[in-house]
Amino acid sequence: MTRRASKPLRVGKVIVGGDAPIVVQSMTKTDTRDIPATINQIKELEDCGCEIMRVAVPDKEAAESIAAIKRSVALPLIADIHFDYRLALAALKSGVDGLRLNPGNIGDKANIATVVAAAKEREVPIRIGVNAGSLPADFQPDAPLAERMVNMALEQIRLMESLDFSLIKVSLKAFDVPATIQAYQLIADKIPYPLHLGVTEAGLPRTGAIRSAIGIGILLYQGIGDTIRVSLSAPPCEEVFVAYEILKSLGLRQRGPTLVSCPSCGRAEVDIVALAEAVSKRLEKISKPVKVAVMGCVVNGPGEARDADVGIACGKGKGMIFKKGEKLAVVAEKDFLTALMREVEEL
Ligand code: SF4
Repeated sequence: MTRRASKPLRVGKVIVGGDAPIVVQSMTKTDTRDIPATINQIKELEDCGCEIMRVAVPDKEAAESIAAIKRSVALPLIADIHFDYRLALAALKSGVDGLRLNPGNIGDKANIATVVAAAKEREVPIRIGVNAGSLPADFQPDAPLAERMVNMALEQIRLMESLDFSLIKVSLKAFDVPATIQAYQLIADKIPYPLHLGVTEAGLPRTGAIRSAIGIGILLYQGIGDTIRVSLSAPPCEEVFVAYEILKSLGLRQRGPTLVSCPSCGRAEVDIVALAEAVSKRLEKISKPVKVAVMGCVVNGPGEARDADVGIACGKGKGMIFKKGEKLAVVAEKDFLTALMREVEEL
C-alpha cells in the first residue's frame, strides 16, 4: 500500500503524519477533575502501549487540572473541547499538547480565531474533530452524511488557514461505517493534513472491535490515516489492544505477541480452544513481538507452527514443538502449555 502524503506535526514528543508510524491514541474515562484517578489511568494506558491521551474538558476545573496531570505523566495530552472556546484557552494555559475542537458546537468564527491565535503562539496542534452526531441540523441538510462531514471540516480548515494556522489534524467520525470510510476517502486528497481515524460510538468490545477494524482497516489499507482511536464501551486498554491488532493485521506496527491458533475441528484430538486460551492469557504478560502458533493436528499444524517463532502442532496425547522453523521436541499433552511458554520466554 502507498501511504497518503501528509504534513507531519508534533503532539508533544510524538510525531503524527508524514512517515511517522501510525500513532495509537485513546481517551481517559475518568473525571478529569479527579486528578489522581486520571493520572493512574493514563499510566495504565501508557503501559499497554497508548501513545497519545485525550482527556475530556467539560469545565474550567477540568481544564485547569491538566497542569497537575501533565506534571505526573509522560504521554502527550490532548484536551477535548466542546461548546465553550474559553475551555480551549484554559487548557492551553495549563500546558496541553493538543486541542480537539468540535466545529459543530464550538461557536462563532471570532472565538475560533482567539483559540487559533493562542494555539499558534504555543505551537500546539488543533484537531478539527467532526462528529456526525453533532453536525448542526441546518448544515447542508440535503447532502449525504459523508459530504456534510467533509464540507463542515473544510469550512473550518479554510478558516484556520485564513488565520495562517497549519498545525491541523482532521477526523470525520460517524457510527455508520460506510459513511465514515467515504468521508475520509473524500477528504484525503483535498487537504495535506494528518488524518485521525475512528468509528465513533462503536459499541461493546465484540461488535465495536469489528466495526472499528472494518472502518479503520479499510482506510489504512488504502494508505489513509496517521493516527487511530478505537472507541469502545470498555476499559481504555481494550481500545489500545484492538488498535494494535488492527495495525498488526495490516503489517503496519508490531507490538506484543501474535497468536496464530486453528479453530479446531473434528480432526483435533486435544482441546485446542482451551489450550489457545491458556496460551493467550500467558502471552498477555509478554511485550516482545513474537509469533506463537497453536495448531490442532498434522494437516496445517506443522506448516503454521514452523512459520511462527514458536509453535506446537498437537496430536493424540503428544505434540511437536517448533522453534524458528525447526522441530525442537515432542512433548506429552500435560506439558503442552509449559513447554510452549518456556520456549517463548527463552526467545
Ligand atoms: S489444524 Fe487440524 S485440527 Fe486445526 S482446524 Fe485445521 S484440520 Fe482442524
